[in-house]
Amino acid sequence: MATPRDYYEVLGVARNAQPEEIKKAYKKLALANHPDRNPGDDDAIGRFKEASEAYEVLGDSEKRARYDRFGHAGVQGAGRGGGFSDVSDIFEAFGDVFGDLGGIFGGGSRRGGGRQSARQGDSLKVGLLITLEEAATGCTKEVEIRRRKLCSTCHGSGAAPGSVAESCDYCGGHGQVVQSQGFFRVQRTCPQCSGQGAVIRKKCKACRGTCKESATAQLDVRVPAGVDTGMRLCLRGEGEPSIEGGSAGDLYVEMAVKPHSIFRREGLDLICELPVSYTQATLGAEIEVPILQGRHQLTIPRGTQPGHVFQLRGMGIPDVNGRGQGDLLIQTSVEVPKKVTERQEELLREFAELEHAHVSPERKSFLDKIKDYFSGDD
Ligand SMILES: [Zn+2]
Ligand SMILES: [Zn+2]
Repeated sequence: MATPRDYYEVLGVARNAQPEEIKKAYKKLALANHPDRNPGDDDAIGRFKEASEAYEVLGDSEKRARYDRFGHAGVQGAGRGGGFSDVSDIFEAFGDVFGDLGGIFGGGSRRGGGRQSARQGDSLKVGLLITLEEAATGCTKEVEIRRRKLCSTCHGSGAAPGSVAESCDYCGGHGQVVQSQGFFRVQRTCPQCSGQGAVIRKKCKACRGTCKESATAQLDVRVPAGVDTGMRLCLRGEGEPSIEGGSAGDLYVEMAVKPHSIFRREGLDLICELPVSYTQATLGAEIEVPILQGRHQLTIPRGTQPGHVFQLRGMGIPDVNGRGQGDLLIQTSVEVPKKVTERQEELLREFAELEHAHVSPERKSFLDKIKDYFSGDD
């Protein structure tokens, strides 16, 4: 593997250049040597690739720090190793830079995280409990997570301050070793440095060479309307950082919705029990019923039967993917009073008599009682 040119030299910037300067220098070089502008010119494509490799490292603060400390050996495992295999890889990686040029160039416009060979940071998981009202409207919640960050003593290199990772003597810093197997020569990842090309002899004391330190982070989580218990939100890049210069892991937020005192959720529908009295069910009534956002005037028609379900369309939970909204289902039950006043009992018994119903306990009929009352004997 030929030793690559110094990346600062490639981009023509000072070692202490600001990120904006580096980006600007890369844009200029990429523009001048762009394959679309230099069709068939292999030298230009070579310069374009070289500049892109340099920018891949210097344009990323973590990789740049490793490069400053360890040189090319420090970033060998972090990038694509042998650089970009073709021009479309560059568009994939730096499309956002070209996007700034006002859409002169085609190609991808997203950073292709999955194409990097560096291992992604670990993903994290956190639980989030919200109310049914919050689930119905969506909300933003602050969560605190324990998320390690790169060690502030060694800046994620794992080497003690003042010491550097030494070029691996097993593979000569290439990260790969070639072994002969009979007639074949097989290249494989160096077992001593795991492909990093460098080994750390003096470990950082602060992190014991793990490159990370514990920390907590506060995050605002936007919860979309319609979430339900068991759903998982994924926050890309909010997991742990990668110590190999790869992309950070993801944070999974596992949702739980508190049970509600009035409403039960079934899919997108809300269900609520509404006790009505015998007289309300019989004669009809206007009743104020609870809905998730307050109150609603419900008309109970005369002769409403126990168990009847009133359907309030669109007053349920919205679909989390925006496909419609559930209903509020109000299921009536007829309440039977446990105690009645004397006067109520009189009227009920009179009513029962009109219905020719047998009421218990078997007593003298209401009319008999009235008669007895006026005649004075009991
Ligand atoms: Zn450290
Ligand atoms: Zn090695």
